[in-house]
Amino acid sequence: MRRTLFESLTGGSLTEAPPAASEAALAELAQRVQRAAKARLGRSLSIREIDAGSCNGCELEIHALNNAYYDIERFGLRFVASPRHADVLMVTGPVTKNMREALVRTYHATPEPKWVVAVGDCAKDGGCFAGSYAVVGGVDAVVPVDLHIPGCPPAPIAMLRGLLALVERVDSAAGQR
Ligand code: SF4
Repeated sequence: MRRTLFESLTGGSLTEAPPAASEAALAELAQRVQRAAKARLGRSLSIREIDAGSCNGCELEIHALNNAYYDIERFGLRFVASPRHADVLMVTGPVTKNMREALVRTYHATPEPKWVVAVGDCAKDGGCFAGSYAVVGGVDAVVPVDLHIPGCPPAPIAMLRGLLALVERVDSAAGQR
């Protein structure tokens, strides 16, 4: 016991080094999303996350957007508890038969204008769960999808880039009308 204690005090750290993404790049990306949302909506972007049947790997990365490292709420991007307050639905996982109805109801409960972002490889076409008896398919088999962010799971910074591409695309399309 004494030896274990001594080794734990004198040994090196067992945790991994933090990601190398620069704070300046993160801040610039998040502020661009915020500016594009303000131009399009006149306010900050609100995001509702829906787990339609994921393994939770994608959730871990989405939750990281709110941790002390990324902390995207400081840029005005927030996750909301109700689809009635959301602009963007971030949907993960293959859509399971159990979650199909919940996803449809959540989609209809979200006011216009709204955008659906399918997060992760499973959300595109079922990924490694495709063909399972419990799975309907990708998100677009159930609700219309505006953007897919690939990866298994995608990194938080990739999600921010995806949100930026989505809001800027919508903003420029609105400007051409
Ligand atoms: S894309 Fe990967 S991490 Fe995300 S739900 Fe599918 S298996 Fe899990």
